[in-house]
Amino acid sequence: MNTTVDSRAQIKFVSQNNQLVPYADAKISIMAPGLTFGALVFEGYRAYWNEEKQDLFIFRLEEHMRRLEFSMDLLELDNPPSIETFTNDILATLKANAFREDTYIRLQVYVDDWGSMLATGPVGSSVICRPRPRVTDFSTGKQFVVSSWRRNAENASPPRIKAAANYLNSRMAGLEAKRQGAGGAILLNEDGTVSEGPGGCLFIMRDGVFITPDVTSGILESVTRRTILEFAASAGVETVERTVGRTELYLAEEAFYCGTGQEIMPITGFDGRLVGDGAPGPATRKLQAAFDEIVRGRNASYDDWLTPVYND
Ligand code: PMP
Repeated sequence: MNTTVDSRAQIKFVSQNNQLVPYADAKISIMAPGLTFGALVFEGYRAYWNEEKQDLFIFRLEEHMRRLEFSMDLLELDNPPSIETFTNDILATLKANAFREDTYIRLQVYVDDWGSMLATGPVGSSVICRPRPRVTDFSTGKQFVVSSWRRNAENASPPRIKAAANYLNSRMAGLEAKRQGAGGAILLNEDGTVSEGPGGCLFIMRDGVFITPDVTSGILESVTRRTILEFAASAGVETVERTVGRTELYLAEEAFYCGTGQEIMPITGFDGRLVGDGAPGPATRKLQAAFDEIVRGRNASYDDWLTPVYND
């Protein structure tokens, strides 16, 4: 079963190796180390349609590009294209498809062609943009379970970088949660403290303060998580980064999952124990509302976080 909506029919062009091509013409070698050995790093961005301004705004493009840079660095790729080139690829792909709705962008950089596990080139890249509305769980929330799988360790397969290889661990946890009928998983790290979920970070509230595991807890350095830490105070919500123990999940007054895909998605229970009264909490709602204003370009204080696509 495939849970991602198939929007191929709406995609006119993708970009591969910095050229626009029809989706069906984008190809990768079956001997590519990016495929067999997971020598691939990627980024996922959202672009939000603003009806009043008749423009699409890419959210925190620069921050995603900074993460891409250190992901590529760790893979020791041979002379990958510059961030400027990738930015142009994204803008060109969005424009070529003329999307006028919320869109998800995936940029992938990988070792292509014919090579061994240690090959560092030739480097290929791709950009695909597709319509992606907000997840319905944004309003209702979901129940999560603590996975029996541990988050891949910093000294094994570093979760800090957005590498395809890390998503084996995510897949194991995600499939296990699904078999159990849960809406999502939370992974503990090798120290046994809370890290994150298969595709998003976590905030839990205790004593009125939202706590999120710190960047040495075995997490991806999430752009959404950082964004929330930066704007929450302006929405009247207190946050802190620190190590989180498993039992704190069960004591949480509110909780949410966050990431580019999920944005801010309420968590209503952990392991069958309700968070608060089992409904999305008021501070979570406040953050969602403030976040929505920011990403839609309705809060001028954060306009720097938006990259216009059509009226640049
Ligand atoms: N953790 C993991 C493992 C992820 O895949 C994602 C999604 N990119 C996140 C966290 C959230 O990161 P971001 O806010 O940058 O999308």
